Amino acid sequence: MNFWDFHTHQNGKANAIFNGEGEVSPAGLFCSLGIHPWDLDENWEEKWQKISMQVKDSISVLAIGECGFDRIKGPELEIQNAAFHAQASLAFELDIPLILHCVKGHDLLLEYLKKEKNIPQIIWHGWNLKPDLALRLLDFPVFFSFGHHLKKEESNAQAWLKACPPYRIFFETDDSNMEISEIYQAASLILGLSPAELAQLGISNWNQISSRKIQ
Ligand SMILES: [Zn+2]
Repeated sequence: MNFWDFHTHQNGKANAIFNGEGEVSPAGLFCSLGIHPWDLDENWEEKWQKISMQVKDSISVLAIGECGFDRIKGPELEIQNAAFHAQASLAFELDIPLILHCVKGHDLLLEYLKKEKNIPQIIWHGWNLKPDLALRLLDFPVFFSFGHHLKKEESNAQAWLKACPPYRIFFETDDSNMEISEIYQAASLILGLSPAELAQLGISNWNQISSRKIQ
């Protein structure tokens, strides 16, 4: 059984989507490519040109991202919005998920979701916000990836994992140096499902929403 790590900054792991830093993963490994809001500047379009070619050309790129909105760190929102639209529209076109980074920007995301017609499947990574916000996102193709916050008693992540529809759930290590099995273990205790069942759930959830399948 493969315990997929759907978003990680640890390079070189099998069954993981490495948040690639401009490089496509070598054969047999997988990555996501995109421009993080922290890395955006006026020349983002040039950068994006190159990345979008890599995404189209290589099926080891499983997702676009992480990308999104950040009001704490990053350039003006106009640039963030434009870059998000470009990345989201390629994810839609290729029918692969977008991995979302969103810090104090859920209003920007909601605005996008309400206005836009061609919305890709969006995985909000590192979810640890209140369940009532998550509930508002269920009207849209938004999914939730849970990481180290699951190990914190009474965290928002724990509360939402319990209530989240199972087909919207993913797991990740993000920038922690945990093993992904620890996250599955934590989720297993919260949900009363075995780690193997959760591993299967992650794989089938992914294959429901992506044209680039995993095993
Ligand atoms: Zn990350």
